[in-house]
Amino acid sequence: MIDANRCVAFRGLSAFFAVQNTGLSGVDMECWHCGRPAQAACKFCGRAVCKEHAQKLPSIVSVFTAREKHKAVVVADAIYCGLCKPQDDPVELSDV
Ligand SMILES: [Zn+2]
Ligand SMILES: [Zn+2]
Repeated sequence: MIDANRCVAFRGLSAFFAVQNTGLSGVDMECWHCGRPAQAACKFCGRAVCKEHAQKLPSIVSVFTAREKHKAVVVADAIYCGLCKPQDDPVELSDV
């Protein structure tokens, strides 16, 4: 008869460390399209996208008036998610 009871070792110790490893690291953003870890956020709407799904679009970062002409500072390669619809024309603001 074989003694099956030999050496039921202290497995409690590894269980203890396993519990320690269940940390909450779930704040990483995932790509809106494929769910993989995101590399960037859309400049226009804030959706997270991975490198594969990130697109680029010119983005106006600031508008100013010089000698009664409106000028815009434009970033040519702003990250774009491909889904949202940035307006072509600047929206008119009152009382700025
Ligand atoms: Zn993706
Ligand atoms: Zn977007």
